[in-house]
Amino acid sequence: MNLLDIHTHSSTNEFAIFNIELERPKESTSFFSTGLHPWNLQENWEDNFDKVKAFAKDEKCMAIGEAGFDRIWGPDKEVQKKAFSAQAKLAFELEIPLILHLVKSHDLLLEYLKNETEIPSIICHGFNLKPHLGEQLLPFPVSFSFGKALKQKDSNAVSWLKKCPEDRYFFETDDSDETIDSIFNAASVILGRSVEELSEQVLSNWNRISKRKIYE
Ligand SMILES: [Zn+2]
Repeated sequence: MNLLDIHTHSSTNEFAIFNIELERPKESTSFFSTGLHPWNLQENWEDNFDKVKAFAKDEKCMAIGEAGFDRIWGPDKEVQKKAFSAQAKLAFELEIPLILHLVKSHDLLLEYLKNETEIPSIICHGFNLKPHLGEQLLPFPVSFSFGKALKQKDSNAVSWLKKCPEDRYFFETDDSDETIDSIFNAASVILGRSVEELSEQVLSNWNRISKRKIYE
């Protein structure tokens, strides 16, 4: 069974959304995501955004991102807000999700969600925040992707996965050494659902929020 890895920086798994970095030549992978990570935003981010738009025309481009907000690394928050809004608008127009990077910026995300009307489906990746912060996002088109933090007992990710509505979750390896199978196994134990059920759930979740469909 192929288990969908929603976000990875390693191109070894075929059934995965591989995050492409703009500076590097595009590897031939099946599915990919591309965007301007807040760490890499330069003064001339608008030039790079043109490259994102060009890549995004490819039907194999399943999501825009990582994009988002980071108060530890990255430029001034006004620049981050502008770059995020532009990328969110692109995802909205293409009817594909945006993969969100969020560090110490929950307030900036909420500000965006409360003030915008044309919001794409947003996948909060590597989610490991307190469950009440997850709950605040449920009124909006936000899903959650869980990774290696599911392997730490008592992590915020474990607590939130238990409460998270089933139509809002995904799984990922990101930049870890974990396999996607081991993440699904951890989730299966936490939720008391079989890996097969979780696999079907994740695919139906994806196909509900994206115009670019994924089938096993
Ligand atoms: Zn990542």
